[in-house]
Amino acid sequence: MPVVLVVNSGSSSFKYQLIEMDGERVLASGLVERIGEGEGRAEHRTAGESFPVSQDIPDHTAGFGLMIDAFAAHGPSLEQNPPVAVGHRVVHGGARFFEATVIDDLVEINIDDLSVLAPLHNPGALQGIRAARRAFADVPHVAVFDTAFHQTMPPAAYTYALDRATAEKHRIRRYGFHGTSHKFVSEAAAAHLGRPLAELKQIVFHLGNGASAAAIDGGRSVDTSMGFTPLEGLVMGTRTGDIDPAILIHLQRRAGLTTRELDDLLNKRSGLVGLAGANDMRDLTARAEAGDVAARLAIDVYTHRLRAYAGAYLAQLGGADVISFTAGVGENSPHIREAALRGLEFAGVELDAERNEGARRGEITRISTDSSRVAVLVVPTDEEVEIARQAFAAARD
Ligand code: AMP
Repeated sequence: MPVVLVVNSGSSSFKYQLIEMDGERVLASGLVERIGEGEGRAEHRTAGESFPVSQDIPDHTAGFGLMIDAFAAHGPSLEQNPPVAVGHRVVHGGARFFEATVIDDLVEINIDDLSVLAPLHNPGALQGIRAARRAFADVPHVAVFDTAFHQTMPPAAYTYALDRATAEKHRIRRYGFHGTSHKFVSEAAAAHLGRPLAELKQIVFHLGNGASAAAIDGGRSVDTSMGFTPLEGLVMGTRTGDIDPAILIHLQRRAGLTTRELDDLLNKRSGLVGLAGANDMRDLTARAEAGDVAARLAIDVYTHRLRAYAGAYLAQLGGADVISFTAGVGENSPHIREAALRGLEFAGVELDAERNEGARRGEITRISTDSSRVAVLVVPTDEEVEIARQAFAAARD
């Protein structure tokens, strides 16, 4: 039974899952955190049990050592289930990586070079990759990029109307993110409907703490709401999404905000948190129902933007066959799903209120009426399984 190890590394932590490919079952998972920060912590989970340890973890190499010890002590045995591939989540693949790629030294250099575009993410991924390649030296390691799925966007969708020379010099274009999730969800939706992916026009709303929409034609991404960075597009937990960029210039000029302060304002202190002081949609919905004006406005701004993107992508695709909702908010909030699609009856979207309310966590559910021209689905995303699938396939090629 082939198994794949999936690793998602940041600069001071990494998460892992060991996935058995035949049933796409998670055999074990875990987390190593506070690497290089004094008192580190690791937790290995298997079959309902969890095994935490606290100790100094000076670097990623020590972290992988702890992980391997945990597999040896608590199972499953990596000697009996040696991974056939290690799949690494990498946020930014730039314009270079359009598919999952077996990692060699040149690929490492390219991921490092792309740190200019993703300074918060690629360096951490690379530290994990280097340590994991040492720990599992005989196994192919595969980089699976968040941006890769969106590399099929046409130039009209990925080009900003910015001075060409400046844009080219600084590699400024729309890249799009959450690609692993958009790919997984659009394929799961087609399979659920029993229809060929190649025939379907799909819109996917990935609504988690970060949020993005994608227009997918025949399984290929043709537009997405996140852009040069994950800041663009939908309203998110703490990020603005689309705003007039002149606001930055204004705040710099008038309020004297520094680059760091602007970054912090747009990425960490805006979105739902900025509007209503909280980013958990459960709290916001409850507060709005109790008459809280700020929470009501936050939800209204959030869903207004969702409708705007739904309309834009219906236009780009020439109508849709499927609209799917995924991630924390998308999978759990009937209210947001309903508000996102309100007024789209003209485009063939008809929600079934009972199905929408009844959609159960972890299950793929159709929430449109039987007569709705557009099938509306709730699809639980699984980025780790998608990374495992892509790593498994790339390692076999
Ligand atoms: P994610 O990034 O996919 O883990 O999504 C996290 C977000 O999902 C949280 O910030 C919450 O706003 C939202 N969320 C999680 N559970 C629920 C729920 N039961 N109802 C509404 N929103 C939820």
